[in-house]
Amino acid sequence: MKAMILDAAGRPLRLASLPVPKPAPGQILVRVGACGVCRTDLHIVDGELANPKLPLVLGHEIAGTVWALGASVNTLAIGQRVGIPWLGFTCGRCRSCGEGRENLCDQARFTGYQIDGGYAEYAVADARYCFGLPEGYSFQQAAPLLCAGMIGYRTLRLAGEANRLGLYGFGAAAHIIIQIARYQGRQVYAFSRPGDEKSQSFARELGAVWAGDCLAGPPEELDAAIIFAPVGTLVPAALRALAKGGTVVCAGIHMSDIPSFPYEILWQERCVRSVANLTRQDGEEFLRLAARIGVRAKTAPFALERAQQALDALRQGIIDGAAVLVMPQNQDVSKCA
Ligand SMILES: [Zn+2]
Ligand SMILES: [Zn+2]
Repeated sequence: MKAMILDAAGRPLRLASLPVPKPAPGQILVRVGACGVCRTDLHIVDGELANPKLPLVLGHEIAGTVWALGASVNTLAIGQRVGIPWLGFTCGRCRSCGEGRENLCDQARFTGYQIDGGYAEYAVADARYCFGLPEGYSFQQAAPLLCAGMIGYRTLRLAGEANRLGLYGFGAAAHIIIQIARYQGRQVYAFSRPGDEKSQSFARELGAVWAGDCLAGPPEELDAAIIFAPVGTLVPAALRALAKGGTVVCAGIHMSDIPSFPYEILWQERCVRSVANLTRQDGEEFLRLAARIGVRAKTAPFALERAQQALDALRQGIIDGAAVLVMPQNQDVSKCA
């Protein structure tokens, strides 16, 4: 099979020919129809996340067709449309797993980081962490739901009941989460890089009541702010935009250092927290909700061989919505073995 390989941090991805992986007991083999390109992939390429498997096939927003079953898989069937998310394994025995917080599992393993992912024609995954895809979504449409959507949804939950919600960084996750937030009746304020008129008008099209530069203050105080951009200077900026008792949620897996700030902007029960990974329950809840309200991702398709260009475009911030690698030859379920 064709795969785009990361040999070492800082190196460009390389097209390689690999054997199609065999599903071990408990695993499925998936023919990849599409795989989303996430900001986390850039952090791995840049060496900002420790100890990735190397060489590595990136990609943790995989939508495709079940192609073969390993021994003792009875929850999924050959030919079924499935999604493979970031959470690839949990131990089920540690304290976090016992408390229903498998996203914090001590032994968790992640797709496209410690396990080969979806920048390839085929991928294997532990069947217990895969999701059946809702009807009405092409693979290209479904791929961004698997991280930008699912982890974005967890982030939104942790932002609490906030009516006035700020979104800092208007990329793949924010453009999905605004659709959920609007459905829930919240008012969304979108913040983007200074002068990025394109993102700001995109946010307004999706129903933001206000869109502006990330260092500008919003016209009203916010009840919560979600920071999707990996930029630590946004934390004090967002705190300054918050009403009393408000929360800043940092949604990314990596962020540049947060500058020191006066206690006064945290005072009055303002709160800063992070979000890590997802639970399977987050994923299931989000997919049900997305299908019910008709969440639609805006996608920019790239061929598998152009994965490096997709990462470069993401880094430059020139993609509206989500970049997705699409395998046009793998869309037809009827040819299933
Ligand atoms: Zn991701
Ligand atoms: Zn665990």
